[in-house]
Amino acid sequence: MDVRFLGVNGSIQSAGSGNVSLVVSHVDSHVLVDTSGAVVQALWLAGVDPLTIDTVVLTHAHIDHIYALPSLLHNLWLSKRERPLTILANQETLEIARNLCSVFAIEQKRLMFPINWRIAEGGWHLHRLGALSFGLFPVNHGVPTIGCMFSTDGGKLSKIVYLADCIPMENYPVEVMGADLLIHEAGGTDAQEASLTSRGHSTARQAALVAERLSAGRMLLCHLCPQESRWDEMLQEARRYFPRVEIPKLFVPYGV
Ligand SMILES: [Zn+2]
Ligand SMILES: [Zn+2]
Repeated sequence: MDVRFLGVNGSIQSAGSGNVSLVVSHVDSHVLVDTSGAVVQALWLAGVDPLTIDTVVLTHAHIDHIYALPSLLHNLWLSKRERPLTILANQETLEIARNLCSVFAIEQKRLMFPINWRIAEGGWHLHRLGALSFGLFPVNHGVPTIGCMFSTDGGKLSKIVYLADCIPMENYPVEVMGADLLIHEAGGTDAQEASLTSRGHSTARQAALVAERLSAGRMLLCHLCPQESRWDEMLQEARRYFPRVEIPKLFVPYGV
């Protein structure tokens, strides 16, 4: 199983990256998490044929996470996709995403492939996609937001956990403990803590403490500030509490 980042920035794009989104792949199964930027181009750059995406998970309804959904669906339709696409989100996000797509009447296109809009609301939701399983659960971000845990069990259980836009929580689902790879957002360092917390975001130190608490193997930080010159400072802060942390490169597979 691996994860590839299509973007690593938070809400503000830069020359180096668009807004955060990622694709998790295992054997022939591919789950796209959030839709931003030139999503189809980014999937090709990551070596994933966009037509092979099985499921799209939308973590929450903030613009930087869902605005490219109409473009993705339009591209898949023009590419003659026939098989259904599942789109998973909490109720609020799903409604906004459907409204966004309805502006362009995408579902009324001739020979449009079926879209299964499915609600993941409340507690833990487990989904299976071939040999890939993934659980969705609420995280704390001010608006309803979901985190994801991807797992495979090919002899050894492997886990990738994505804690989307969020501040640290008192309790996490027991299933996310011991992730081989934790992906956590971090918008800055402790110097920006008050401002980040007020907007439902974490500092590098807070992300590192979560990684330590969850006994993660290693961690990747994302939803970063657009000033790349500040990323080193964030890494240094995080490494004081959890040493195995990196900032991911775009389009490169990180395997577990
Ligand atoms: Zn965001
Ligand atoms: Zn957000």
